[in-house]
Amino acid sequence: MIAILKKNADSNAVAHLVSWIEKKGLTAHVSHGENETIIGLVGDTTKIDPFLLESMDIVQRVQRVSEPFKKANRKFHPADSVIDCGGVPIGGGNFQVIAGPCSVEGDNLLRIARRVKEAGATMLRGGAYKPRTSPYAYQGMGPRGLDLLLEARAETGLPIVTEIMDPRDIDEFLTRGIDVMQIGARNAQNFPLLKEVGKTRVPVLLKRGLAGTIDELLMAAEYIMSEGNDNVILCERGIRTFETRTRNTFDLNAVPVLHELSHLPVVADPSHATGYTRYVEPMALAAVAAGADGLEVEVHDDPAHAWSDGAQALTPEMFDDLMARIRIIREAITADTCQER
Ligand code: PEP
Ligand code: MN
Repeated sequence: MIAILKKNADSNAVAHLVSWIEKKGLTAHVSHGENETIIGLVGDTTKIDPFLLESMDIVQRVQRVSEPFKKANRKFHPADSVIDCGGVPIGGGNFQVIAGPCSVEGDNLLRIARRVKEAGATMLRGGAYKPRTSPYAYQGMGPRGLDLLLEARAETGLPIVTEIMDPRDIDEFLTRGIDVMQIGARNAQNFPLLKEVGKTRVPVLLKRGLAGTIDELLMAAEYIMSEGNDNVILCERGIRTFETRTRNTFDLNAVPVLHELSHLPVVADPSHATGYTRYVEPMALAAVAAGADGLEVEVHDDPAHAWSDGAQALTPEMFDDLMARIRIIREAITADTCQER
């Protein structure tokens, strides 16, 4: 629920209203805009009679917010959020490409990192802790994988994006200064994990759940933000549908829908969304055209021998080509065409 205040509401009256709201057990987020002051009421708004609220002297209008997400909601924060990922800003017109292998495997990480950087990637990805469907499959290098990522960062300057699966690893990620913690699709509703990363201020790349709705993704973001961490980047990575020709179904509708509903940056991952190398480039370009603030793309210099997700990896040469085409699409969609016709 949002209360839009009258233009000249005085600060004492605003403070009085805030305390009235708080006595009802809700939190009041006051935001002073250029033209109006609004109060976002967070909590169990069933305790508030909107008509009573609207009848108050300083209140101009009360708007019910049907969405249960508040901090992630564009209504409370009209401007795009720009999130600083280890010195690289994303969102609000800042477009970034996160590239690298699915798993950190060893020395090839540095080779791949150099190549993706040369091609124009601005962040390096690689999983040190891997969420695998089978407990017998390769589970990731763990701490040694983080070392390799940090070595690659030291040499290339690319900030690191890597998945966190266990709240017990957060201290390690913090100590090592991991730039962006990825929450994978399988953990998109792991609420204790979401809350724990929410207690940090490290940017979180939050992936949409395997069968998660857009609202569930936003509520997962809300879990993180409700703990104080506003640095959330949403990621559309494909959802499970009846379709079997691709690994997942890339829901590109989610890109403009998320932009409409939320101020958070939206990244698209065409690698997990399609599952096949040959589909990654066309769908990556489609995601850029749809207005994504960034892409996450898996790149491997020897996909046939990759330890995980080789079937969807681009080679560095393919990635070069993709980056060149991304530049053209970005130019096309950011061009000012609003000339008089
Ligand atoms: C990954 O990025 O390697 C990964 C496992 O992604 P997702 O959680 O989207 O499956
Ligand atoms: Mn992967």
